[in-house]
Amino acid sequence: MIIVMKSGAGRQELAEVKKRIRELGYKPHVIHGATRNVVGAVGDERGKAVLQSLQSLSGVDNVVPILKPFKLASREVKPEPSLVEIVPGLSVGGDEFIVMAGPCSVESEAQILQSAHAVKAAGARLLRGGAFKPRTSPYSFQGLEEEGLKLLAAAREETGLPIVTEVVNPRDVELVARYADVMQVGARNVQNFALLKMLGQLDKPILLKRGMATTIQEYLMSAEYILSEGNRRVILCERGIRTFETATRNTLDISAVPVLKSQTHLPVIVDPSHATGHARLIAPMSYAAVAAGADGLIVEVHPRPEEAASDGPQSLKPADFAAMMKKLAAYAEVAERSLATGD
Ligand code: PEP
Ligand code: MN
Repeated sequence: MIIVMKSGAGRQELAEVKKRIRELGYKPHVIHGATRNVVGAVGDERGKAVLQSLQSLSGVDNVVPILKPFKLASREVKPEPSLVEIVPGLSVGGDEFIVMAGPCSVESEAQILQSAHAVKAAGARLLRGGAFKPRTSPYSFQGLEEEGLKLLAAAREETGLPIVTEVVNPRDVELVARYADVMQVGARNVQNFALLKMLGQLDKPILLKRGMATTIQEYLMSAEYILSEGNRRVILCERGIRTFETATRNTLDISAVPVLKSQTHLPVIVDPSHATGHARLIAPMSYAAVAAGADGLIVEVHPRPEEAASDGPQSLKPADFAAMMKKLAAYAEVAERSLATGD
């Protein structure tokens, strides 16, 4: 249910509404709007009619059911787009088109430092790099683990770029959170509900990738797992889905971007590397992403893709990334987004 407060309702009235929601066995989530506040009351769907009684409280304008199965993620609860703050002065979901870039995996100090300097010079605002890698084969490189996290932190220290890195296992949440600015949930973990619940208790932004076989509704239900635990800072990422097509690694579901943007207030970015599997397809799909209304990108960039321990074929060389960023800025301008690039 959504409890819509009157525009003049005060703190006391809001506190009373929250208290009553808790007494009825539901969890209140306050969304502060420009003119009025709304309170999402979420919990067991079966008995929610009892929440109608809140209608009689002073300060309450209206009590309306949330029609979508995803509640806190929906535009019904929060019509205006959410800005997800990464660090002070840097947010995803606003006017600026945010590009995150770096190698698939952290491999060595030299590799991550070179990558960090190169992507920063080209205009990336965050550095990506996997320290824990979810590989299809148990015989493939699994990542440098904590050593990789330390190298990412060193790269952040040198360049000032915040870092986004994946957490694969609930066991490692605390460890990864000690280093990461943004915790990435990979496609294979999109329905790892135990992991999502743990991440919902953190005070850190979460980059939640779409699973390769999740519908948009299932995907938003996964986001709901994080939001319902109290963490509002969720960024969505379309990274391609499985289809019958084999010319590309996955099929970039570009229409998922405007569909998601219409159904949720959460920011949406695109990963053209995993979506296509080919470096030469990254630029055209990135231009498509900005045109479709995405809030940013996450792109794999490696100083020597031919030597990469993982995902070399879908990683751009630094010079190609810089050239793409320049052209992307022109597309961003048409889409009324700002994008700073290197000069
Ligand atoms: C990655 O970002 O390197 C990754 C493994 O992505 P995905 O989870 O989308 O496959
Ligand atoms: Mn990868």
